[in-house]
Amino acid sequence: MTKEEKIQASKKKWRESERGKELNRQGQKRWRESEKGKTYVLQRKYGISLVEYNKLLLLQNYRCKICNRELNLKNPHDIHVDHNCVTGNVRGILCQRCNMALGLFDDDIQKILNAARYVEDTK
Ligand SMILES: [Zn+2]
Repeated sequence: MTKEEKIQASKKKWRESERGKELNRQGQKRWRESEKGKTYVLQRKYGISLVEYNKLLLLQNYRCKICNRELNLKNPHDIHVDHNCVTGNVRGILCQRCNMALGLFDDDIQKILNAARYVEDTK
């Protein structure tokens, strides 16, 4: 084994150790929550900049676009950039529950309307 191969094997062993995995997870979390990380993820996943994202939040008064609940800005799991899965266009920012609800209804307008009618008719 060459010196370079030994170094690579040692790095691999560290990465695969529990401590290595944990430090890697913490590092990724710190990066995702940094301005640079947020910018990268927003641009890559949704095609919007951090400025556009902050503008959307401001336009929505920091509230979910469906239920109007105040978004918990300190909890990144509570804030979801909602996009049209077909066109990729960003529709707005939703709370976790509303984002999940749309997903459970397969983003199908008819299913959502049926659910609304069902709840209305059975009041
Ligand atoms: Zn909501």
